[in-house]
Amino acid sequence: MRSSPRRARRLAAVLALPLAITLNALPVLAAPSPQPSEIAPDRPSSTAQNGVALMRVVVPDQAAVDRLAALGVDLAEYTKPVDGGIEVHAVLSPEETRDLRDKGFDVRDAISDQSDYAANTAERRQALASASADAAETDTLTPLRAEWFTSLDGGRFLSVEVKTSATDAETVLTATWDSGPGTAPGSGGSATMSRFTDAGQYMYHRFNTPLPVDQTPAKVTVTSSRGGSVTVPVTKWLGEPRKAPGAHYVQDFVDHYMDPTEVTGRITALAKEFPAISQIVDLPYKTNGYRRAAQAQFGTAAASTFYVTSKAYGAEGGNEVSVALARPSTASAPLSVAVNGKAVTVGLATDASGAVASTAAQVVAALNGDSAASALLTAATYRGNAGAGVVAEAPATSLTDNLKAPATVSRQPFQMKVLRIGKHRDGSRTGVFLYCQEHAREWVTPITCVETAERLLRNYDKDAATRKLVDNLDIFILPTVNPDGGHYSMYDYNMQRRNMTNYCPAANGDPARRNSWGVDLNRNFTVGSVFDGYTGASTSCTSDTFGGPAELSEPETRNEVWLTDTFRNIKFAMNTHSYGGYFMWPPGAYKTAGREVLPRADFGTENYFWDASGHILSAVQAWRGTAIWPGRTGPVTDVLYSAAGNSADEHWYNRGIIGWDFEVGADVYDPATKQYQAVGFQPPFSEGHEEAMEFANGQIAILEVARAYADDHDRPDSRLEVTGRTATSATFTFSTDEPANVYYTLDGSRPTLSSPKLAAAGMREGAQKITVDRTTEVHWFSVDIAGNVEKNYKPDGNGKNYDKETVQVGDAR
Ligand SMILES: [Zn+2]
Repeated sequence: MRSSPRRARRLAAVLALPLAITLNALPVLAAPSPQPSEIAPDRPSSTAQNGVALMRVVVPDQAAVDRLAALGVDLAEYTKPVDGGIEVHAVLSPEETRDLRDKGFDVRDAISDQSDYAANTAERRQALASASADAAETDTLTPLRAEWFTSLDGGRFLSVEVKTSATDAETVLTATWDSGPGTAPGSGGSATMSRFTDAGQYMYHRFNTPLPVDQTPAKVTVTSSRGGSVTVPVTKWLGEPRKAPGAHYVQDFVDHYMDPTEVTGRITALAKEFPAISQIVDLPYKTNGYRRAAQAQFGTAAASTFYVTSKAYGAEGGNEVSVALARPSTASAPLSVAVNGKAVTVGLATDASGAVASTAAQVVAALNGDSAASALLTAATYRGNAGAGVVAEAPATSLTDNLKAPATVSRQPFQMKVLRIGKHRDGSRTGVFLYCQEHAREWVTPITCVETAERLLRNYDKDAATRKLVDNLDIFILPTVNPDGGHYSMYDYNMQRRNMTNYCPAANGDPARRNSWGVDLNRNFTVGSVFDGYTGASTSCTSDTFGGPAELSEPETRNEVWLTDTFRNIKFAMNTHSYGGYFMWPPGAYKTAGREVLPRADFGTENYFWDASGHILSAVQAWRGTAIWPGRTGPVTDVLYSAAGNSADEHWYNRGIIGWDFEVGADVYDPATKQYQAVGFQPPFSEGHEEAMEFANGQIAILEVARAYADDHDRPDSRLEVTGRTATSATFTFSTDEPANVYYTLDGSRPTLSSPKLAAAGMREGAQKITVDRTTEVHWFSVDIAGNVEKNYKPDGNGKNYDKETVQVGDAR
């Protein structure tokens, strides 16, 4: 969609145009006009178009519309009643516009004009040109991923991602595959691939969902309608063998969806039961609480409707306030307000005949102007209406906060608690922060965090693998980031996503809006936020992705930041959401204009993420076979969307904490229909339980990854590989024996951490290739994610123990 400022500028430009023509060029028009009154002037035609535009015309009545038609005016098929008559749209030249104005018609502004036409034409020309350029040239296909996996009941699936150099929509890619090693190409099947675009930009081709296959293919060939073709081996995704848990390993500690009070009670009890290896950390910022002002609304039509909102929260006296609209028995009574305790009575004004005469606006003003009443409540007309309608009398009506949770749920600010698990909780061990339920309605997530906590504590004594994690890591588990919204979701409005804090002005403050208030906590952080111009959050207080009035406006988000600022040993974080079955990492936001993405992780780090995902997602799969798809694994912006101001970006970009995201609740495959089905936010508990179990497996595997990181003292090893050579150039890249970054020089100098770093060739692609046009001595070294440097080389020292190799161009002797 075109942005409105641009549209406004164009309208201003075209509005100026007819005036200029009118003043300078119009005498011509009058010349041969035989019947000057009722015949529309010729429209200057065709290519130049001379200011023809679709203009807005307002006429008093249908007869005037008919008169326009009789004049031969080119009317659009559109009429709209407006103040003062009917709005119609007419295609008019400046001369026609002038003529109609001369005839007394109210011709207003342009809806679209030649500059729109010019832009459309230019866009069309460009598209056609690039299509024909593409057509003239065979496209190049870059394979990104080609994988097979099994899922759930042993079904077998194929997932392929390929990028074509021809980015136009007409290019069609077709995948064909064999039915195993040595079988004929194409014998396994074929399918047309889907073109994946995001923010108007071509990303790559893929299958919308992985395809069921009977046999495991050995190779897949993708061909393009533009002539490109590529054949790649199909590799196995997930299913890395895992050691079965020890005989004493216990799991499965959740048997119902739990509200935030319950999960917080549960971790508090755990800390009490296991004081040697755990403790509670109280987070410093209390939430606003599961509480809301009490309200009542009077009236049925917008103009005569108003609503009142208590000053005190419902449970703190607001629910005891009542308002009555009484009609005095006398004629010509004035409007009055009386307050008795918490009972407010409005005496409505009457006219000479004794009928009620007070409008909604007058009642609102009287209530807000009365000191006793305004101490109890504020009044407002309905959604910004002027409130000119006369109100109806009404009996005493109690205000209500309408909150339905049982009394066990406190109506006070909520103390958020983190369960810290570790034998050594002194900051000396690598920290991992697992947090759940930023979004209230994602009910599976808090029980996933609880399950993980239970497994760590209850297996510590008898399970050696668990003991290694607890002895060597510092684990922070926050089972509910959004306790107020979580309670609201469970007891009042199950689709609540945000917290409960209402930032809406009176125009959006009426009781019917109460399920539309709150801040999306995963859009309230400071990196790539809506306030920085990034996409995927809203500044509207009723939007489900409302980013809040400012970054970190909410105590819930400030608590996350406080935790990661206070415990600087935290190196990993997992932000668990639902649903869809995703494993993701930063960047998580872009600006739509130009799809300007937050900086990508470097190549070595991204490889580390892919490596880790293999381990973590194999653990998820170990529970009941669920495979998280390759197409739902990767940076948020590659596989899902832009989420401005999310917490994983906050942790990664501001503190270097590896910020991962889970979406639990992978689509479930139905072999009968051969369709994947989405599970939703709150599946039946039998399904929710399985999701919690499998993603608790995933959270434990994250701890294993963190421990491997903490224990990683192995130096990486790397190799230079020449991939192509001509008489005048050579192309090479590097490979490493573990995920690592390679720093290199081509000018014979000593490589340092400021030297060029090997990058990815592109999104979801392998290493870039480096081309030199003369024989070059390449110097380089590699560094892994834990900071181990190849050969113990000191990049900032003077040693020469970096790698060296000469890449030959031309005659190799
Ligand atoms: Zn979520």
